[in-house]
Amino acid sequence: MKLFLTYDYELFFGEPTGTVEKCIIEPTNLLREIANRTGVKMVFFIDTGYLKQLERFKDEFPQVKYEHDLVKSQINDLIRDGHDCQLHIHPHWEDCSHNGNAWIMKTDRYKLDDFSDDMIEKIMTEYAEILGKWTGKPIHSYRAGGWCLQPFNRIQKAFKKIGIRLDSTVFPGGKFTAGNYYYDFTNAPHLSKWRFNDDLCQASSNGMFWEYPISNYKYSALFFWRLFALGRLQPKLHKSIGDGYPMASPGLRKQMLTKGMNLSAAADGYFVTKLNAVLRNNKKRGYEEMVILGHPKACTHFALKKLEQFIEKNKNKHQFLTFSDLNHTNEIN
Ligand SMILES: [Zn+2]
Repeated sequence: MKLFLTYDYELFFGEPTGTVEKCIIEPTNLLREIANRTGVKMVFFIDTGYLKQLERFKDEFPQVKYEHDLVKSQINDLIRDGHDCQLHIHPHWEDCSHNGNAWIMKTDRYKLDDFSDDMIEKIMTEYAEILGKWTGKPIHSYRAGGWCLQPFNRIQKAFKKIGIRLDSTVFPGGKFTAGNYYYDFTNAPHLSKWRFNDDLCQASSNGMFWEYPISNYKYSALFFWRLFALGRLQPKLHKSIGDGYPMASPGLRKQMLTKGMNLSAAADGYFVTKLNAVLRNNKKRGYEEMVILGHPKACTHFALKKLEQFIEKNKNKHQFLTFSDLNHTNEIN
């Protein structure tokens, strides 16, 4: 099996957004240490709207200049370590600003579909260019902010224009359409990769793009009771290192605690305990790929320890790869 450890590199989008040190720098450095000890490389999906606003406000506010320099230096470290930095877009950054002390988040236009066709193309090409400038590396892979990339036929043109070959947004069976979110992957193929054209969830043998879906797992209600209880009982181990709050997800917590939920396979917090089960499920289905989602901001000390054990246990039986590895071997052409 080819395993991909993928981290969405970003602040929180609620009030407050949290600090760059706690949400990004400190946990990402802990991930770099794990990668150095175990010899694996990771994919970081860089929230590029944030980079755009760092550039926009850095000369106006010393706080932003400080943040900008920390992030810039860390992205250089990631590239030097051999990690893969690819494109992640939260387009609501278009509507955000800074007041000298904190980011002022506005998330009404949370997904690309909330923008006009011209704006979608403008945002995507501009962000791809910004990220390319920060990393000095080709951009070929994409993950949508908040899993919102539908309807894809509105976004396909920009994908082609900037040369995106691979998307890793879908998790089969997932659906959430409340608040500012919209994604519906209930019709996605149960495969570990497929080609597609204008519909993310429709495999097409000569499709222009590859979907490498995030693996999914049905977490029980009991799992979520444990997760929420542990955060309260053992905060040192089980509270996220990130110090901000997420944007509202109306009804999500209730659904988790009453019915359980099909979500992404994740290295975040207590979710990490299910990675071995996800790997077993994927093997049983005959899958050749497994994409794991994580967020530096949602790392806990418990999750980091368990992640390292998971890597050590599996690194000789399986391959830990990045999407750039696939690009180099022409597997996503
Ligand atoms: Zn994100």
